[in-house]
Amino acid sequence: MDAAERDKQLLMKVSVVIPLYNEEENIAILHERLKETLDRLGYDYEIIYVDDGSADKTLAGLEKIQAEDKKVVVLSLRRNFGQTAAFAAGFDFSRGDIVITMDGDLQNDPADIPKLLDLIKDNDLVSGWRKKRKDAFITRRLPSIIANWIISKVTGVKLHDYGCSLKAYRREIIKNLKLYGEMHRFIPAVASWYGVRVAEVETTHYPRLRGKSKYGLSRTMKVILDLITVKFLQSFSTKPLQFFGPIGLFSSAAGFLISLYLSIEKIFIGKPIGGRPLLLLGILLIIVGIQLIGMGLLGEMLVRVYHESQRKPIYVIKKIIGAETE
Ligand code: UDP
Ligand code: MG
Repeated sequence: MDAAERDKQLLMKVSVVIPLYNEEENIAILHERLKETLDRLGYDYEIIYVDDGSADKTLAGLEKIQAEDKKVVVLSLRRNFGQTAAFAAGFDFSRGDIVITMDGDLQNDPADIPKLLDLIKDNDLVSGWRKKRKDAFITRRLPSIIANWIISKVTGVKLHDYGCSLKAYRREIIKNLKLYGEMHRFIPAVASWYGVRVAEVETTHYPRLRGKSKYGLSRTMKVILDLITVKFLQSFSTKPLQFFGPIGLFSSAAGFLISLYLSIEKIFIGKPIGGRPLLLLGILLIIVGIQLIGMGLLGEMLVRVYHESQRKPIYVIKKIIGAETE
């Protein structure tokens, strides 16, 4: 490593964002391990703990940690908004050049952070891969294997483990990112469409020792539905008429030809056409075609509203502890 490279590194600031929902038993050990790793690395860093409306003593515990450690920022959300919203809140408040996310239940290992930082030098996003995942097989690992396979097929971004929270991002990636639903797992997919370099690294995974998992089988369904949204928005969000239009034009044209044929028979041959099923089909195709084109046009209008409307956050912050106001 030459001097310039070292200088660049010293200037680099790392933000670690951790969402917490009812993790009172985990935060003290988590902070201790995290600090151990980060202090050893020698970067300037901040740790952003996002309390996602916990009902236990998580917030009190975080406040205590923050009082003793000025590198800690605590965001307390007004209610439980979900992991994705908690990430979004943390992202918006982070000031690092590199942002690292991980779970707060010690299933991820803070000791893996150096590995991610190493890879982020040549990439824009580094995703952890829980190769030996320590979760229940039927309710968690199996659905996740299927979901990962589908996501990689649909999005075209080849990762083994989209759901792993342990990830590192360059600031530009998350700066203007809008997250909804369970979308945080799709950041690599969304980002790679923008031409971002994505890398994957094996990380250690531990079983949850304290506290309860917040998710079950039902999450897989949400993830699949979010995937459909992501795919749709990515492929058609800027050109809905291009999607609906061709089908509409084809349908209208077919309906028109059928009706023309019937009209010719009626006018020139004098055949009655009132009771013929073909007439119904012809009219149906014309109407469906016009509807589809209309839908595409409506979509075009919606897209403009969607992209140009005001920025609306997906969370409400109750208080911020420890961030110096600029
Ligand atoms: N979490 C959160 N808000 C929620 C649910 C979970 O902030 O509504 C946090 C949770 O405290 C943990 C991380 O997200 O730090 C992952 O949650 P969990 O361990 O329950 O998920 P699993 O590992 O079982 O997929
Ligand atoms: Mg967990």
